[in-house]
Amino acid sequence: MTSIARAAFDSLPYPTVIVVGGGFGGLEVVQRLNGKPFKVLLIDKQNHHCFQPLLYQVATASLSADSIAHPFRRTIAPMDNVVFRMASVTGIDPAGKHVHTDRGSFGYDILVLATGSTTNFFGNAAIEAEAMQLKSIAQALDIRSDFLQDFEAALYSDDEAAQRKQLNFVIVGGGPTGVELAGAMAEIRKTILKHEYREVLSERMQIHLIDSGDRVLKSFHPENSARAKRYLEEMGVHIRLGARVMSFDGERIALNDGSTMDTNTLMWAAGVKGSSVKGLGAALDERSQRFKVDAFNRVEGQRDIYAVGDIALMTTDTAWPTGHPQVAPAAIQQGQHLVKNLLFAKAGEEMKPFTYFDKGSMATIGRFKAVVEVRSLRFGGLIAWLGWIFVHVMSLVSFRNRIMVLMNWAWKFMSWKNTIRLIIRPYVRRTHP
Ligand SMILES: Cc1cc2nc3c(=O)[nH]c(=O)nc-3n(C[C@H](O)[C@H](O)[C@H](O)COP(=O)(O)OP(=O)(O)OC[C@H]3O[C@@H](n4cnc5c(N)ncnc54)[C@H](O)[C@@H]3O)c2cc1C
Repeated sequence: MTSIARAAFDSLPYPTVIVVGGGFGGLEVVQRLNGKPFKVLLIDKQNHHCFQPLLYQVATASLSADSIAHPFRRTIAPMDNVVFRMASVTGIDPAGKHVHTDRGSFGYDILVLATGSTTNFFGNAAIEAEAMQLKSIAQALDIRSDFLQDFEAALYSDDEAAQRKQLNFVIVGGGPTGVELAGAMAEIRKTILKHEYREVLSERMQIHLIDSGDRVLKSFHPENSARAKRYLEEMGVHIRLGARVMSFDGERIALNDGSTMDTNTLMWAAGVKGSSVKGLGAALDERSQRFKVDAFNRVEGQRDIYAVGDIALMTTDTAWPTGHPQVAPAAIQQGQHLVKNLLFAKAGEEMKPFTYFDKGSMATIGRFKAVVEVRSLRFGGLIAWLGWIFVHVMSLVSFRNRIMVLMNWAWKFMSWKNTIRLIIRPYVRRTHP
């Protein structure tokens, strides 16, 4: 077994809690266990927490990567009962109470799984091999490099069809990520491409948003779906509903109606599945790849293993019989509630069942446009956009992140002269150099 080897930590007379994943749910658990009678080991394959709701802004060169990420070591530095190890968890041994990682095994008394979710290609390996995805900083930087490289390459192309293909950007999935990406790409056409790549005709850049459903933002009220669609169309985004992408070979997309589209870039935002780990057998729901948990976030069939956030499938909350939405507030609330329950259990008191408080939903569609709904209240436009900015800035994990994001946005919206467009690490396509 791998030892933590930090004397002050090892000698604490407390049970060991391992938290796997320092996203919204896991980090909330760690922060709330700070100073409590537990030894906490946070394990994550990354060395930083990532604020995923703003990933699309990194991908579209509005924000720098470090303004939406925060190193775990900085967060836990003041926490005497918390240590961090960067490692990828490969499996769980519930009988031996061990977590296996690519760097060794760690023993636990209590295990909290908060591994989040990953992109779901619904078994289409060919699309997975070629499409771009947006779940991490590295992937956001790939998208950013890719479209900047396409712009640069377009300048060398005399052939109109080849140039159009290079400047054709297809986004699959009309949920908040797809809608926000499409809106931001439309802004890029209007600003960066038009003013900084003057030799290229900016109308040759086309943005397509494809969804198999009958409206964008399906999780929102139809009124807000219609509003978002109208905003996108006003910005020149082509929306195709009721269409399904069947294949993509890095050059051409084929749709279920037999039509094709020539493009080098397909961004896949059509679904997620749990980022599961091996070892918990039947507790894993095959379809969603989430771990089934009871009302106390305890993994089905286990005594000391809990799951929170996107990876947890809780069907006991009567308002959410098919599980909670995979969003940040659900992960945070479950993390908060689990720590309360762990403290109740330690004090010999009964745990309390979790219920999710839905604060509402919002999505932004370019400059000055957003849609918001809070219970029966639904609105769009500038007020919604300002609300979106306020909520996102206040939710960032550190004060430095908040200041950086605010300054970047203020400069960008006043001048449109932001400069976060360095191709630092060129994106190399896996099968098409
Ligand atoms: C592009 C995008 C936009 C989004 N926009 C919004 C939004 O506007 N509003 C909203 O509420 N939600 C949004 N979400 C969803 C929200 O980000 C998730 O619901 C939330 O991050 C879930 O939190 P979590 O703690 O469960 O997992 P995550 O925050 O995903 O964290 C999981 C952590 O586990 C680590 N990990 C995973 N597997 C392993 C392993 N095997 N070993 C070690 N570490 C591992 C990961 O590195 C990561 O740090 C968005 C998501 C994306 C991708």
